[in-house]
This record gives sequence, structure tokens and C-alpha cells, in this order.
Amino acid sequence: AKREGRGNFQFFSPEMNAATHEHLLLENRMWGALNAEGFELYLQAQVELDTGRVIGAEVLLRWHDQELGSVEPSRFIPVAEESGMIVPLGDWVLGQTMALLAQWQREGLEDLRLAVNLSARQFSGSTLLARLDELVAQHGIDPSQLELEITETAAMRDPEATRQLLRQLRTRGFKLAIDDFGTGYSSLAYLKLFAIDRIKIDRGFVQDIEHNPNDAVIVAATIGLAHSLGLTVVAEGVETEAQWGFLRDKQGDEAQGYLFARPMPAREFREFIRRQAQP
Ligand code: C2E
Ligand code: CA
Ligand code: CA
Ligand code: CA
Repeated sequence: AKREGRGNFQFFSPEMNAATHEHLLLENRMWGALNAEGFELYLQAQVELDTGRVIGAEVLLRWHDQELGSVEPSRFIPVAEESGMIVPLGDWVLGQTMALLAQWQREGLEDLRLAVNLSARQFSGSTLLARLDELVAQHGIDPSQLELEITETAAMRDPEATRQLLRQLRTRGFKLAIDDFGTGYSSLAYLKLFAIDRIKIDRGFVQDIEHNPNDAVIVAATIGLAHSLGLTVVAEGVETEAQWGFLRDKQGDEAQGYLFARPMPAREFREFIRRQAQP
């Protein structure tokens, strides 16, 4: 229950709007799911643009609730962000991801990289670096196998703190990517301020690339800009052969999208890799 100004309690009162109700419901069920392993990591392949060869995957969180069914990340991540629950949840994702990398290492798949989404809250906390060190030691992985995806908005909350943290992460060997590049307000300032490895071009620029001349120009220019700065580029949301062709033509580096693979459970991804490796 939430304490109101004049000492009266409110709990799912009729005045409470539907959004708040949904928020409380989801938050409640999420705590249950975190304790009862209702969350699962899905992996979506990232491929080398020229060859289509899988070089790694992005980790995407999935939640199946007994009563609510499958809940989309676009519905539960914002609630987790707002309530602060994203911190323990994100920590769980990091731990699971490191465990998976360790398992792959034992199976001879140490060349594959996993990219994890970090929320602004995880990122602005003071404990991230120590926690990552702890997990790396616990699982015995090589930090360069792990890529951290951060959004422009998260990074620009406190640019100076971000700059220092990114430098420390990079010294450890972690890979750093800017997610949803081009959708924030400060993409270019970001490139100047922060030492990073790659940028992920947002799906919004890729989806109409064949028909919208502006998008085509923006994507081509972003690839050129990134390369001049020594960064690699991942194009998100590639769904068609024509989009793939355009990106190859513009010398993009990597791609991710339904054309290559949908997000899938880790075990299925393992099979997917095995099938690909066969001649
Ligand atoms: P994102 O980081 O931009 O992730 C890419 C989203 O695009 C994923 O949605 C993915 O399934 C979807 N996608 C990939 N390829 C295609 C395509 O070809 N076409 C279309 N239409 N969509 C494609 P998803 O899995 O629903 O995740 C949505 C967002 O939720 C993510 O956006 C990310 O911001 C957030 N998220 C997911 N997992 C986590 C997590 O573990 N931690 C945090 N902090 N955020 C997460
Ligand atoms: Ca992402
Ligand atoms: Ca993205
Ligand atoms: Ca996006």
C-alpha cells in the first residue's frame, strides 16, 4: 500500500487509474517471477554482414507469468525501470549471461560474444563495476566475450560519471555498444565524449531503408562516420534481403534481425549454431 499525504492508505481504490493498477500488478508478479524463475533469457543472433556467419547474440529477457501469460518487455521493462526492480532483475540477467558464457567456453564456443542490455539505473549505480568483477571471477570468463549495450539517454544523465565508468569497463576488456543509435538527442556528442566499440543503428532507420531516401542517407552516413572513428556498426531489425543487400553495399559490419533469426531460448540457439556450422 502507498501512504497518501494525510495519513490515509490507498490500495487499488477505484479512483486509482488503470495505468497505476497495471503497474502495481506487474511489479507484484515480477517479484514473484524473479524468485520462482519465471524469467528466461532469449538470444537473438548477430551476424557478420558479408557472410551471414553468426558471431554472437543479444540477450533479450522473456517473462511468462502463470496468470498473465507471456508479457512483452515493452510492457514490463518500463515498470521495472520505474520501480527500481530493474536493478535486481538486471543483475539476474548478468549472472545468467556469464553462466552461459562459461558453459560455452567449456563446449569450445569461446568465440561467440553475448550482448546484454543495461538499464540507466544499473548504469548510474556505483556498484556495477564491482559486481561485474565479481561475476567475471566467479564464472571465469573473459570480459571481452561480454558486450554491454547502453542507451544514449542513460549515458547522458551524468556524462562525466559515464565517461569514467566506460573507461574502467573498457580497461577490463568489456565491449561497449550504444543501443538505438540516432533516437536520442545527443548521438554525436556521445561519440565525442565516450570511448566505445560499436554502435547499433536503430530499427527505425532500417525498416524503410529501400523506400525512404532520407533513412538511406542517414544509415550510409552513420556507417561512414562510425568507421572514421574506428567503431563497428550493427544494424538492428533487418527483415528483408533487400535491406541486407543495402547494408552490405554500404560496408556495414554486422546485422541482427528476423531475416537471420528471431530471439530464441539458449538451448535452441545452441542447436542453431550447430546446424550453421555443418557444411
Ligand atoms: P532493444 O534493446 O532495442 O532490442 C531489440 C528489440 O527488437 C527486441 O525486442 C527484438 O526482439 C526486436 N527485434 C529484433 N529483430 C527484429 C526485427 O527484424 N523486426 C522487428 N520488428 N523487431 C525485431 P524485445 O525482445 O521485445 O525487447 C524490447 C526492448 O526491451 C529491448 O529493445 C530492450 O530495450 C528491452 N530489454 C529486453 N531485454 C532486456 C534486459 O535484459 N534488460 C533491459 N534493461 N532491457 C531489456
Ligand atoms: Ca539492445
Ligand atoms: Ca536496440
Ligand atoms: Ca530499439
